Amino acid sequence: MAEVVLRDLVKTYAGATVRATDEVSLEVADGEFMVLLGPSGCGKTTLLRMVAGLELPDSGQIVIGDQDVTYLEPRRRNLSMVFQSYAVFPNKNVAENIGFGLRVRGTPAAEVRRKVEWAADLLQLSPYLDRYPAKLSGGQRQRVAVARAIVMDADVLLMDEPLSNLDALLRLSFRAELKKLVGELGTTTLYVTHDQVEALSLGDRVAVMREGRIAQCDAPTAVYDDPANEFVGGFLGSPPMNFLTGTVERDGSKLDLGGQSLAVPHALSTFAGRTLKLGVRPEAIEVAGGDGALQGELQVLEPLGSSALLTTEICGQPVKVQAPPTFRAEPGGSLSLRIPPEACRWYDPETSLLLEV
Ligand code: ADP
Ligand code: MG
Repeated sequence: MAEVVLRDLVKTYAGATVRATDEVSLEVADGEFMVLLGPSGCGKTTLLRMVAGLELPDSGQIVIGDQDVTYLEPRRRNLSMVFQSYAVFPNKNVAENIGFGLRVRGTPAAEVRRKVEWAADLLQLSPYLDRYPAKLSGGQRQRVAVARAIVMDADVLLMDEPLSNLDALLRLSFRAELKKLVGELGTTTLYVTHDQVEALSLGDRVAVMREGRIAQCDAPTAVYDDPANEFVGGFLGSPPMNFLTGTVERDGSKLDLGGQSLAVPHALSTFAGRTLKLGVRPEAIEVAGGDGALQGELQVLEPLGSSALLTTEICGQPVKVQAPPTFRAEPGGSLSLRIPPEACRWYDPETSLLLEV
């Protein structure tokens, strides 16, 4: 096991005009499960491939344990990787597939057998050791790919969207299995996904990436509850965080959203006369009257089983509200919406950054 340190990694592919990764720095602690999350094209795979040694950075440094591996050959980095495509050898059975890397390395046969049985047991593949991939389900094949990676006793495990080829239900069950497995192994892991639920579920920390940079890196609850910028708030959550723009009134105490207003924390009174953005999660908004409630117009009500999703407008600004599943109201009517002060996050419209209050 080892820590992984990335320093100012820059990579521009030949012919490209923008950097695939743009001065990315990240420290992954020994035994930590770090998720790289972000939309397609933001540089996740590039970053992982540089750690693996499959791409060389233009500049920057990669340290694994106490060794600078920036320009070291892939096979000397003592890491193993699971790809999205989870290629397994079709002409080898499950046991041969899992043990392949060990045999290539010259591991004695008895040791290979012992390790294969250990991994097969962990990944519930023991009944299938003699089967060929054609006779396995997608989920079982994916488990073979993971088993093949974990038997290598690598310092670092790299996984690039390993669940993305599984159907939704399988992804859900395998996600929980993977979490349990990695917890037991305690191997330092870098895990790439564009799926926010997967990221929040699996990561000790989540590095949210955007356009080759890390927009925020923190514990799942922290990136969800306190998005450091509008991008992270707008990327995490389904539906994501709402943003409402207003002007802080002259005395600095209220935000005018366009006819209705909301209390502003004292710390932001310096924004008097300027615009400010309020971020609030759909599940934090209450459909309730009373002090400080805002009037919203209900446009669409979607019963989603475990909740009712409301598409509303406050002062002409779109706001999603996640209401209890039993909530019913006629679209077109007006609703009282309460935004609890503790659920408010405040952003500077000029920088998109979260403001301290
Ligand atoms: P992600 O894994 O987050 O989807 P990638 O790391 O694959 O993102 O890609 C980052 C950027 O680099 C994208 O703009 C992509 O088009 C570009 N890119 C990726 N691989 C190559 C390549 N082999 N050659 C040229 N451009 C590439
Ligand atoms: Mg990718």
